[in-house]
Amino acid sequence: MKLETIALHAGYTPDSTKSVAVPIYQTTSYSFDDTQYGADLFALRKPGNIYTRITNPTLSVLEERINALEGGVGAVSFASGAAAITTAVQNLCEVGQNIVSASTLYGGTATLFAHTFRRLGIEVRFADADKPETFKSLIDENTRAIYCETIGNPLGNITDIAALAEIAHQNEIPLVVDNTVASPFLCRPFEFGADIVVHSLTKYLGGHGTSLGGIIVDSGNFAWNKKFAMLTEPDITYHGISYAKDCGKAAYAVRARVSILRDTGAALSPFNAFLILQGVENCALRMERTCENAIKVAEFLSKHKNVAWVNYAGLSSNKYHNLAEKYTKGKAAGIMTFGVKSSKLSGKAAGALFQDSLKLIVRLVNIGDSKSLVCHPASTTHSQLSDEELLAAGVSPDMIRLSVGVEHIDDIIADLNQALEALDK
Ligand SMILES: *Cc1c(COP(=O)(O)O)cnc(C)c1O
Repeated sequence: MKLETIALHAGYTPDSTKSVAVPIYQTTSYSFDDTQYGADLFALRKPGNIYTRITNPTLSVLEERINALEGGVGAVSFASGAAAITTAVQNLCEVGQNIVSASTLYGGTATLFAHTFRRLGIEVRFADADKPETFKSLIDENTRAIYCETIGNPLGNITDIAALAEIAHQNEIPLVVDNTVASPFLCRPFEFGADIVVHSLTKYLGGHGTSLGGIIVDSGNFAWNKKFAMLTEPDITYHGISYAKDCGKAAYAVRARVSILRDTGAALSPFNAFLILQGVENCALRMERTCENAIKVAEFLSKHKNVAWVNYAGLSSNKYHNLAEKYTKGKAAGIMTFGVKSSKLSGKAAGALFQDSLKLIVRLVNIGDSKSLVCHPASTTHSQLSDEELLAAGVSPDMIRLSVGVEHIDDIIADLNQALEALDK
């Protein structure tokens, strides 16, 4: 079936109650028929639910649905995108090992990689996402993965997934792709050789700014080799099984759940899974309208006298447009950056006044909502940096990040226009 249909139906058949909506199983645990039944579950002799930290029927529907949208063999949901990304790396890498990552990353991932993992003994080496060969030179015998984002947040750059997959596979390591900004409706990274996909469900898939969530999807395509002892050697904490030998193609997803999620506990709440499912059902429609609105906004901004520059990969003049044509249907979701100026103001002051003049578009630090959202990094997320440091981080003082929503295009443009005109006053 096509993705729009999968988004509405995959993973759920009405149970004996005939409930058409996916039921919310708001429970922590599940009763055992008798002692033997409990013993069989624990000994893996029978499948079944034990505790919601490990499995829950509402979460299973969401997991099967996203798994089907991405074309994987297994998915595991988490309390947030950050938890999914943390687990995705921990399920490949131990102390003394490293991964090579694109340097253009979501801010939270950048901090996790550069500081938190380092303190835990996992090194992340940063490469230039525009130059795949820079990944090659950073790989050594302790490297366990390459990591990138399909569409970088916040820069809106498009990554050459197939080139990175080839480098990863030449080195017998998997490629992990954060597909949050593209969503499966613009790109399915497994079709280009990625081995593992992660998502923040908080953004387009949920789409309504109500619930945090994250997910890992396993393609089942990677041949786990001796570099990945945690997947190939017996697990003494789980009945001595070897995931690669005993769990078929979904070895990586199974271990993410029964070992890491079980032990570290960042499980998604069933109620949030239900809310996110509502978003998944109409994400294809929202993404279509988002992209339609975004290109119109980018064209409007490109022509406005108070806009210094526009970066949106959906514009045919953009340096990432060729990659967008190959990977994301020529589109770049609703994420764009641009610079503002006027004859009276420039830099940080222009950015701040523009943002303060908006009446409809919401000032906050999120993306992928059905509402249009704006952020002025120089005065918020990056306010601790000097002008020189801002430029080094790829964030100019005048830069505005916009996440275009699904309001009527006339209203979005009218709001942007009056805020740009306000710079002249
Ligand atoms: C928001 C985001 C994350 C983190 O997800 P949370 O659900 O906020 O934890 C990871 N990657 C990208 C690309 C994001 O935009």
